[in-house]
Amino acid sequence: MEKTEAVVLHTYNLTESSKIVVLLTPYRGKVRAVAKGVRRTKSKFGSALEPITHVEAEIYFKDGRDLQNLSQAETLDAFPSIRSDLTRLGLASLICELMEQFAQEDEDSSALFALLLIALKTLASTTKNYASLLISFYLRLLDVSGLLPEINHCVRCRRGIEGHAYLEASAGGALCGGCSGGAGEKVYAGSLKIMQRLLTCDWTMLDRTRIAQPSADEILRALNTYIIHHTGRELRSARFLRSLPKLDRE
Ligand SMILES: [Zn+2]
Repeated sequence: MEKTEAVVLHTYNLTESSKIVVLLTPYRGKVRAVAKGVRRTKSKFGSALEPITHVEAEIYFKDGRDLQNLSQAETLDAFPSIRSDLTRLGLASLICELMEQFAQEDEDSSALFALLLIALKTLASTTKNYASLLISFYLRLLDVSGLLPEINHCVRCRRGIEGHAYLEASAGGALCGGCSGGAGEKVYAGSLKIMQRLLTCDWTMLDRTRIAQPSADEILRALNTYIIHHTGRELRSARFLRSLPKLDRE
């Protein structure tokens, strides 16, 4: 039996009384585990196995087994301020869905886990400027996964970007007008500067970093396309987010 911190990313029903829980752990990567009895009213798990919950879990691991056995979970943080707000909940679902896609099983995921926790904690206390938080998360997720696009100069001719560039996933980053041939998502040089800043700035700065709506839209569209290229499919929660009127509040 191992005790480990984890974040519940996703759950689905297995039988009338049990669920499969997808967890992100710092040192075992993504773990799929069965929680027996969790669907009963008087379950020992309480509400600890709701998605978007930071828990301390006890798991029986057996190598080579697809489903592990989750014997206990205690809530460390249930992020109530995320659950009570539709925009925050949508963003947290998107963050967890991306983690599920990017994390691998059975490997050290401490950098991904740290990114997930700080993104959720920042989201829980953020009151506005959700776009900068989401962009910052996207870029850091790509960075931790070794997929960060080149955003400092043209990935082909290495010249600085003047005017605008095209972000192209198959090329690995921004292409200048001369190199691109017009494929990829158009991104203005100013937006690339914003991305450079949001990749490295302190998390506490994000709530104070408001991005003009056209730039935020442009960057999010380009990064969404970039991520879909690597994951192979559109995210459920990205569609949900688009149905919201506007990410940032005045
Ligand atoms: Zn170029």
